[in-house]
Amino acid sequence: MDELIYLDNAASTPVDPRVVTAMLPYFTWHYGNPSAIHPMGRRADEALETAREQVAALINCQPEEVIFTSGGTESDNLAISGAAMAGRGRHIITSEIEHHAVLLACHALEKKGFEVTYLPVDSFGQVSPKDVEAAITPQTALVSIMAANNVIGTLQPVAEIGAVCRRQGVIFHTDAVQMAGHLPLDVKRDNIDLLSLSAHKFNGPKGVGILYAKGDVPLAPLILGGGQESGLRSGTENVPGIAGLGLAAGIAALEMQEEAGRVSSLRKKLAEAILGSIPGSRLNGHPQKRLPGNLNISFEGVEGEYLSKELAKQGICVSTGSACSSASHEAPYVLLATGLERDLANCSIRLSLGKMTTPEHIQKTADTLSAVVSQIRRQTPVW
Ligand SMILES: *Cc1c(COP(=O)(O)O)cnc(C)c1O
Repeated sequence: MDELIYLDNAASTPVDPRVVTAMLPYFTWHYGNPSAIHPMGRRADEALETAREQVAALINCQPEEVIFTSGGTESDNLAISGAAMAGRGRHIITSEIEHHAVLLACHALEKKGFEVTYLPVDSFGQVSPKDVEAAITPQTALVSIMAANNVIGTLQPVAEIGAVCRRQGVIFHTDAVQMAGHLPLDVKRDNIDLLSLSAHKFNGPKGVGILYAKGDVPLAPLILGGGQESGLRSGTENVPGIAGLGLAAGIAALEMQEEAGRVSSLRKKLAEAILGSIPGSRLNGHPQKRLPGNLNISFEGVEGEYLSKELAKQGICVSTGSACSSASHEAPYVLLATGLERDLANCSIRLSLGKMTTPEHIQKTADTLSAVVSQIRRQTPVW
């Protein structure tokens, strides 16, 4: 197992051993229901409150503005459906390159009579704040634009979009699942009203995330029941998971800057090695404004699905994009939205680096990739 080189950190990350240790007591010792008033309940509730403070510190909000959920998907759904159902407007603005958790929530609202504007992106994958401003109407209930894209790693001008939304009095949601824990986030500075993040994308456990909801933003809950999380997310909280999320946020706050520098320099080395040695290779996304660990590259004449399977045989784990699109073999819509021709879009892979990535991994990956790409091309008469 450990000879595998894991370059799929955008899909999920290993849980930090310190996080695992912090979670364990909440399975076996402090197992009370956090809503209970007795001491066992209080101990569990203290874990929730500590985690709320740790997450609040990571994104600069108030602890009571943190709603625990089952992950990024639920947070995105709650933000979009919740704000649409509680608001007065019948119009939503988003982009063509959002995660399916956002896009499908928007499609569902279209079926309920909402109008949705899907903004285009430029060749780097960026949304223009001017386009956001121009799309806002008196009917607009919500703008949802991701902080960083999961396929190509492009960072969006979140602060500028937040400023536009605040000026126009429109609620602004950002899916920060790829950004959180890797680059700084500040909801106050950037005028963000709703923000989704997920623990397993920054070395926390799977199945737990948060939606930050600014105090005065009206939201309709998706899940009804015991009224936990200020009535916005019923159901007994995932106490061990939340304790893990909290510590992962705490660790990220302390170590993010150094780790982002380390990962970013490894990514640049890998990019140079690939682009410099493999003819017909091309970087997708923005050359600078991108996530530290994301590299997305097209190889002319080499189908991405096939390439990733060949790399897997060599023990290198990569992906062609989002987990959902590779399972369903659908067109890589994020790459197409940047204007990449369909042929080249299908010839792309995503290499996403993380905490466990070493310089040796980078060297081995560059060498293997070069050999595998040449071998595939030799087998392909067209090339
Ligand atoms: C992974 C991801 C999600 C979904 O998060 P889960 O916790 O896996 O449900 C949503 N948006 C983006 C951008 C992601 O990368």
